[in-house]
Amino acid sequence: MKRICIYCGSQVGKDPTYRESARELGTLMARRGSGLVYGGGSIGLMGVVADALLAQNAEVIGVIPDALATKELIHPHVADMRIVRTMHERKALMAELADAFIALPGGYGTFEELFEAITWNQLGLHRKPIGLLNVAGYFDPFVRVIDHAVQEGFVKRSQRDLFVVEERPLTLLDRMQNHTIPPQKPIISQDEM
Ligand code: AMP
Repeated sequence: MKRICIYCGSQVGKDPTYRESARELGTLMARRGSGLVYGGGSIGLMGVVADALLAQNAEVIGVIPDALATKELIHPHVADMRIVRTMHERKALMAELADAFIALPGGYGTFEELFEAITWNQLGLHRKPIGLLNVAGYFDPFVRVIDHAVQEGFVKRSQRDLFVVEERPLTLLDRMQNHTIPPQKPIISQDEM
């Protein structure tokens, strides 16, 4: 995984474990030769992950819409900062630059970005691995919602495994490296979106 796109909170959360795991993940990515693509901010878990990779001189690419550049405090030490016009451009460029996605604990923004990566996979628009770093069981209720959707016939059983869930950064990276994504029949092409 040459570059991993990280979706995570613009807050750090209450439990210090969130911060520690974000730092651990960033350090491990750098040591394993994976660069980072992320939202470009210096705040929240976003800033923690970016700092961890920067400390190891690893590749870090920030993608931020101009309207957010001041509010999410553009990271001052990220040299490769791509300023885009809209949120949609941000997500499209982040997805294009990365060859894997990881979600860390976060809020609405994180969920929205994560769901987009999963649904694009479901539509067959990409076949990049998606992982959830389930720090302190943060994503347990998320996984329960998906299992409920499978149970009730709204998510196909074959699509349940479009993402992997692990509590520890090392295990998550290992599993993503070896994860075989269930093939999805492309329903639409990129041009039709
Ligand atoms: P949050 O998880 O709500 O703290 O947000 C995490 C990140 O997601 C922040 O950098 C937000 O700017 C970003 N975000 C929120 N909504 C969107 C969206 N629709 N498209 C792209 N990024 C978003």
